[in-house]
Amino acid sequence: MRCFSCHALSLNIICKQCKDNLLGANITKRKIGSLDVYSFYSYTSLEKLLLSKHTPIGHRVYKELAKMTFKPFMEHFIAHDARDIAVIGVDERIKGGYSHVALLTHSMRGAHTKVLYASLMANNKVSYSAQSLDYRLANPRDFVYKGKQGMDAILVDDIVTTGTTLSEARAVLQKSGVDVLFALTLADARL
Ligand SMILES: [Zn+2]
Repeated sequence: MRCFSCHALSLNIICKQCKDNLLGANITKRKIGSLDVYSFYSYTSLEKLLLSKHTPIGHRVYKELAKMTFKPFMEHFIAHDARDIAVIGVDERIKGGYSHVALLTHSMRGAHTKVLYASLMANNKVSYSAQSLDYRLANPRDFVYKGKQGMDAILVDDIVTTGTTLSEARAVLQKSGVDVLFALTLADARL
């Protein structure tokens, strides 16, 4: 097959050269209100791969990206934390046969991490794509949390843009007694 990113011949959906380039990425941190949001990439450096999201190949691309980022993040940074931590993906809705956010959270499971699949779903299916901050604020996602209460959690989404979704998600979780430690996203659209 060919690498989805550079079209070179490759045994993997992302070739070794592109992987090496992507692995060089640094985790960045952004504050949204009092919430720390960590992102592995800038949106621009990953745009082409992220646009695969709703295509037949997106499933493999997201799985591979998760293996390179979310999985080692949990292994290296959370492994020595003895607390039980919940992983909660934002609106793990199935679209085109899979949920791209669930592919990310699935890679984070471990001895002390429990993935609460599809526990935080949006009632409002509004698309924020290319919408202004005012529009986003006027049209909340209306999240409903159906997971366990009294947990420490990492909130996961694929892209952070204005941060309104993550802020709203955290507010809903906190009302349900879930303490969000921080949010983790694949890409920051502001970088
Ligand atoms: Zn490549």
